[in-house]
Amino acid sequence: MRIGQGYDVHRLTEGRELVLGGVVVPYEKGLLGHSDADVLVHAIMDALLGAAALGDIGQHFPDTDPEYKGISSITLLEKVGKLLEEEGYIIENIDATVIAQRPKLAPYRPQMAVNIARALHLEVNQISIKATTEEGLGFTGSGEGIASQAIALLARVQDLCPDDRMQACECPGCRSEQGSLMSGCPGCGEE
Ligand code: MG
Repeated sequence: MRIGQGYDVHRLTEGRELVLGGVVVPYEKGLLGHSDADVLVHAIMDALLGAAALGDIGQHFPDTDPEYKGISSITLLEKVGKLLEEEGYIIENIDATVIAQRPKLAPYRPQMAVNIARALHLEVNQISIKATTEEGLGFTGSGEGIASQAIALLARVQDLCPDDRMQACECPGCRSEQGSLMSGCPGCGEE
């Protein structure tokens, strides 16, 4: 098991859409950034990269690169998911919190979880999205910006399924993108 944490902040400004967890949330302001500035997804990506000790999103998706200008952060999350897969990791779960005084985010949380789960090929119950205010205190309380924190737990494929059994396994589970970790996989999940 490997654990990682991520933290991000973006400034709220007029004339931008507010995108959180891939959901366009109706609000008078949006977050400023090179990409769509989805602060929630940015924190999640940093938690995932951190758990795998693979650097951070600034390193993988520099904000000086025109390729990433205005890009959906969900697209970047898909890239992080693919990288973890290539490195032999699976994601156990992600727990994240958005810290914003306004707007109220409760109605949008389920769709955020769906978007994030879909991007990472996970079940929606592996993703927890929470929201809180900071009681009017600080930059989130004044509405200057929105912050997000995330934590992620990864497992290494090789730890869950020994190499020799992985190679010997020909079942559909083991040939899947997720490697040989599918529950009930007769090749590696059972004797
Ligand atoms: Mg960011």
